[in-house]
Amino acid sequence: MNPKANKQFAQHWLHSEQALSEIVTAANLQQSDRLLEIGPGTGALTRQLLPQVQSLVAVEIDRKLCKLLVKKLGKVDNFLLLQGDFLSLDLDKLLVSFPNFQQPNKVVANIPYNITGPILAKLLGTITQPRVPAFDLIVLLLQKEVAQRLCAQPGSRTFGALSVRVQYLAECEYICDVPAKAFSPVPKVDSAVVRLRPQVVQPPANEPKYLETLLKLGFASKRKMLRNNLKSLVERDRLTQLLEQLDIDPLARAEDLSVAQWVTLSNQLQ
Ligand code: SAH
Repeated sequence: MNPKANKQFAQHWLHSEQALSEIVTAANLQQSDRLLEIGPGTGALTRQLLPQVQSLVAVEIDRKLCKLLVKKLGKVDNFLLLQGDFLSLDLDKLLVSFPNFQQPNKVVANIPYNITGPILAKLLGTITQPRVPAFDLIVLLLQKEVAQRLCAQPGSRTFGALSVRVQYLAECEYICDVPAKAFSPVPKVDSAVVRLRPQVVQPPANEPKYLETLLKLGFASKRKMLRNNLKSLVERDRLTQLLEQLDIDPLARAEDLSVAQWVTLSNQLQ
């Protein structure tokens, strides 16, 4: 029997064997992999991952669950469970005290959805400060709407500032849908598995700070044309001319531009 889920920690236990196996397959595990799992919960995913890799470090905030998990899994040499808030923990520093657990190269997790944004920022870094060293691969179970935004194509309904920010830092692949009924308790939202390959887009922005400013202004007012949103930064005629040169419709809105186009625009303007 699984313990009662605690809402405060966004706990929803994944019980679908199919979803679990899709996550594991997406991670393309190698025996040499060192994994990081955020929020192992009752260990449904942990148990499948452990036998296939060199090591697994899991961070779980819920003290009660940590005790239960240790009891459930027994003594496993390649498993390190850290109790704490993933967002405030300095993993790189902590792991220095555990010589058998080097820096993880992959992340595989069914994360707490209420802190998805900050988790992504911690795993990938930001446009101005991409995470170093980058993970080789990140496989996450996320709220479906967020997964769609991460993997969206420019010009589509779901493409927005988050898409640009994340796609600047990683290649994003939509793996599969996971229905709400795959969890207990059943959440209000559907889910999806995504696979991210951290890699700053090439060529990168010459001035990442400027690109950040451009994105902030460009996406500030949703339905407006880009040239109106950017008018405090660039003169309208100059922008129109530049957009034409770059083969972008001068009437385009922020969500019509691809990451590569944002980078070119930033490099040309600054
Ligand atoms: N991986 C499990 C549980 C997913 S629910 C499964 O698939 O069944 C999300 C998990 O994240 C819960 O165990 C919750 O306690 C944990 N969690 C929530 N906030 C956290 C935080 N800030 N740091 C680490 N773990 C957290």
